Order: sequence, then structure tokens, then C-alpha cells
Amino acid sequence: MNAAVSFLDTNNHIDNNPGELTSLIAELKRMKKNSEWLSTINDLHARLARALDVNSMIETFSVWLMPLLEHDLIGYNHLDRQRKHLFCSGHGPDRRGVIKVAEEAFNDPAKQHDGLCRHQNHFFVKSWSLGVRETSGRLLLVRKHRKIDTDETEMFDNVLEVLSEPLQRALDYEDLFDQVRQDSLTGLANRRVFDEQIPPLLASARRHGFPVTLCSMDLDKFKQVNDQLGHAEGDRVLRQVALTFAKMVRSSDILVRMGGDEFFLVLPYTDLQSAHCLGQRLCHAVDALDIFSKPGEKFGVSIGLVQWHPDLSKEEWIQKADELLYQAKKTGRCRVCMA
Ligand code: GH3
Ligand code: MG
Repeated sequence: MNAAVSFLDTNNHIDNNPGELTSLIAELKRMKKNSEWLSTINDLHARLARALDVNSMIETFSVWLMPLLEHDLIGYNHLDRQRKHLFCSGHGPDRRGVIKVAEEAFNDPAKQHDGLCRHQNHFFVKSWSLGVRETSGRLLLVRKHRKIDTDETEMFDNVLEVLSEPLQRALDYEDLFDQVRQDSLTGLANRRVFDEQIPPLLASARRHGFPVTLCSMDLDKFKQVNDQLGHAEGDRVLRQVALTFAKMVRSSDILVRMGGDEFFLVLPYTDLQSAHCLGQRLCHAVDALDIFSKPGEKFGVSIGLVQWHPDLSKEEWIQKADELLYQAKKTGRCRVCMA
């Protein structure tokens, strides 16, 4: 009863004060807008929670942002990792143009001022430093037809806070991913990388018919290095040999420390003859390190080489390379044997 009276009282009060009604309606509109914005931000949180790596996070962010702030590209570059993540919605020449603009903006520190919208090769570019923990990255927004205005920038500033925590999670995930695939002593890839990359590589070689050759490598008389110079020096020698190999191979080759003093080098698009030339150069390079030598016990590397063919399983391929490596050891070491 009391409530009904008070409702009537309020109605009468409002009838007599139209200004108050207007401000009440404005307040209701503001609350509705806030609640819509909260629900949009919650949607972003939910989408980012489902993205694991940085690439899919940038893509997710771009798709979510598009209805609120139209853009042609979003890019993220983490300064310590030297890895750029670009997500571009366009196709054809526009796509190439926008990617070129983003690359230039990332590579040139003079083009990286927070809050400044630059006009570059028919595109508008704006970038933000995105401080994640102690290290920082840079987020880039590129749009073709219109400048990124103040309202859009203000909205984007608010949204960046939402992005930064999940992005750190994705960076941590990337670190973990890299760590479990890296040999901690030499920094080379480890056996896991070999196991992961070889089956798809052989499937592709089978389909497209390109040659792939495996070099199985084992250091000669390495136990003597440990015994004569100490285990720490042995570790240093392993790192030095790994670096020597790494400098001599292509980025598309797969160089792996399988364990101990044993390395695998997989050479895609390389036949036996070319692999033999490289194998000999690797032998000479290790020899030239001049690590250790006493009568009958010279430090070096022995190599077994086998070109894969479609009748060979991965296991048979490795076994053949091992047999040839054994032959290289038996016939004097510091040499290449091939099938
Ligand atoms: P061979 O010429 O027949 O290959 O003889 P080798 O002396 O090189 O001996 P082998 O390849 O059979 O054994 C490799 C040795 O490498 C065994 C082990 O003591 C040593 N080793 C394995 N892992 C490490 C490592 O991480 N650091 C160091 N310093 N030594 C290692
Ligand atoms: Mg050895």
C-alpha cells in the first residue's frame, strides 16, 4: 500500500518536473550503454580465453574489433622475440600494400610514436606500446580510407588493458613451446623437433617428389675430450661444434642434437651428391676447430648419409644412416660414408 502511494507520488512529482524526466531518461540511456559495453568487453574476454598462441590471439582481437573500429590490419611485434604477428583482412594488392606498410612501421623506430596517426603510402597507421610485464611489444593498427580519430583511439586505449593479460599468457605459452623443443646445452632443436617435423616432410616429399637427405653425425673421440680436458670443457666443445654446424646450414634445414655427441641434419630439396659436398665441408670445419689430438685419437666428426626414397620408412632411413655412420667410424673416422 505504502509502495503504491510512493510510486504515485513519484509519478506526480515527475509530471510536475519534465526536466527531471529528461535527466532520468538520459541516466537510463547511459546505464544501458554501459551495460552493452560491459557485455561487449565480456565477449572479448571469452574469445581471448579460447586463443592459445599469439597469432590466434591477434586474429581473434581483430575479428572482435572490426564492428567497433574498422581496420585493414592489426599487427603485434614483441621486441625481444623478433617475431611479428600480422593479421590482415584484405586480399590481393591491398593486402600486399598494407603488410608492407606494417613491416616498415615496425622496422623504423621513428614511425612508432604512441598516439600519433601517421599517413604512410595511402594508409593511416597508429601504434601503441603494449607493456606486458617488464618487456614490451608494439601493437599496430592500419586503415586505408579514414584517419583513426580521437573517439576511436580512446575506445582502443580501454580495450588494450583487456588484451594485455591474455597476450602475456600466450607469450608464456610460446616460451614453454620453444623450451621443450630446444636442447638446453647447445640451443639447437632437440629430438622432439625431429620427431614432429619429419613425418610431414616425408609426406610432402612423397607427394611432390623432391629429394631429402639425412646426415647422421657423431663426434669422434669425444670421450677423450672429457677425460683430458674435463666435462665443462667437453660442454663448451659441444656448443662450439653446434654453432659451427648451425652457421653452415640453411634455415630450411633441420639440425638437431639427438643427445650426447650425436647430431642429425635433415636436408630437404637436397640429393645425395649435394649432401656429400656439405658433409665434407662439415668434416673439415670440425677438423679445423683443432680441439684435441694425440696419436691415434683425433677429434673430428663422422657422417653417414642416406637419401630418402618412398619405399623407406622413417625408421629404416635412420637405421641406414646409422649403419653408414658406423662404417665411417670403422674406416678411420672424420669422413663421410653414403649409400
Ligand atoms: P667415437 O669416436 O667412437 O664416437 O667415440 P667417443 O669418444 O665420441 O664416444 P661415444 O660417441 O661413444 O660417446 C659420447 C660421449 O659423450 C659419452 C659421454 O661421456 C659424452 N657426453 C654425452 N653427453 C654429454 C654432455 O652433455 N656433455 C659432455 N661434456 N659430454 C657428454
Ligand atoms: Mg662419439
